Amino acid sequence: MEKKVLMQKYEIGRLLGQGNFAKVYHARDLNTGQSVAIKVINKEMIMKVGMKEQIKREISVMRLVRHPNIVQLYEVMATKTKIYFAMEIVKGGELFDKVSRGRLGEDVARKYFQQLIDAVDYCHSRGVYHRDLKPENLLVDENGDLKITDFGLSALVESRKNDGLLHTICGTPAYVAPEVIKKKGYDGAKADIWSCGVILYVLLAGFVPFNAKNLMEMYKKIIKADCLFPPWFSPDVKRLIYRILDPNSRTRISIAKIVQSRWFRKGYVQIQEFQLPPLFPRNGDDILDVQSAFDSSDSDSDSPPVSIKEESTLKLYRFNAFDLISLSSGLDLSGLFENDQNERQMIRFTTREKPSTIVSMLEEVAQIDNKFKVLKKDGVVRLEGCKAGIKGQLTIDAEIFEITSSLYVVEVKKVAGNTFEYGIFWEQYLKPSLKEII
Ligand code: ADP
Ligand code: MG
Repeated sequence: MEKKVLMQKYEIGRLLGQGNFAKVYHARDLNTGQSVAIKVINKEMIMKVGMKEQIKREISVMRLVRHPNIVQLYEVMATKTKIYFAMEIVKGGELFDKVSRGRLGEDVARKYFQQLIDAVDYCHSRGVYHRDLKPENLLVDENGDLKITDFGLSALVESRKNDGLLHTICGTPAYVAPEVIKKKGYDGAKADIWSCGVILYVLLAGFVPFNAKNLMEMYKKIIKADCLFPPWFSPDVKRLIYRILDPNSRTRISIAKIVQSRWFRKGYVQIQEFQLPPLFPRNGDDILDVQSAFDSSDSDSDSPPVSIKEESTLKLYRFNAFDLISLSSGLDLSGLFENDQNERQMIRFTTREKPSTIVSMLEEVAQIDNKFKVLKKDGVVRLEGCKAGIKGQLTIDAEIFEITSSLYVVEVKKVAGNTFEYGIFWEQYLKPSLKEII
């Protein structure tokens, strides 16, 4: 059988799965031999059902989130008729398949639930809400760890609703929170928590908590949270699910409280540090302005890579349309300015100062008390502490992205060292200096 090669780079293999909008294939990177998953989306169909914004959203969201329990997006490619996502491959299949072969024991279900909550909490801390959490979008890797996929449909759920197409396209609303059904303005975090509760129920029971002969009946049950617990549920897990499946989103349990519950805490090891591929491809050739993925072009090959400007030893990564969307409308950025659970502080801001000015400012701050060495590589300015602290050297990365020739986004984050020490440095030196250019 003749093998199909995509963009002279990926050899396409067998079909891994099919969703409502896309087919996902196994593929091999011909340069590195690495296995990846390629999600193929038919452009024409997207345009037809008005999903362009959702696909953009999926890309921007997947680029913003990096977590061991979330499928990582490596690259976006496009031809005249199709859009391709090269993603981290997840080899263990859908969690849904495992459950359809039989309900899970409490310990197994708990591990998946802990990883789910970890990943969802991480997303929420960045202002990202999935809103389509269900077992079909949860994959399991070869180590038995959970991976969330498919962020694209979250916005679609709402847009489809208006024209009544939701149910035929998205299937069952069994995982959707009451307030979402009622179409009130709702809190994305609380809606995701509800879905996590339904997922936990399904893992343990082998069936959905709100089942009915028709949609109206199902809606009624969901709105009242009218469900029964099978006799094999332990009292602790019943208590927890009861608190999650609270039809009133305001009194519904928060993630912070879920994590504190007795059932959840058992054997829970929170992920501290993780190494994942970089947010933006480090190789300039891989950067594709995704906007062009939607413009009809004459050639059937990939669009030319976006040029990268050199500024002394610094390479800047230009934001594309999708990054801009994620920075402006779709996502609440306040999460970026708050501490996340991994003690990984980060702020992101825009500035009109030239990269050279930004870099000199960082160098100046680094020189105070001879505190830091300054390293510059691949678009990142790294301040590396000269003294080893309690948790190693305090290390801070500042990355500069170009939006237009006069507007830049700077991302500053602590990558190593003691959080308290960073807090002091931030308040005393970094913040006052940065304030001048934000
Ligand atoms: P859709 O947006 O059409 O719902 P999904 O992203 O959910 O598409 O993918 C469809 C199916 O393809 C999934 O249910 C899963 O079986 C498989 N799949 C998706 N992503 C991956 C991946 N990264 N690795 C392996 N299989 C995947
Ligand atoms: Mg899907």
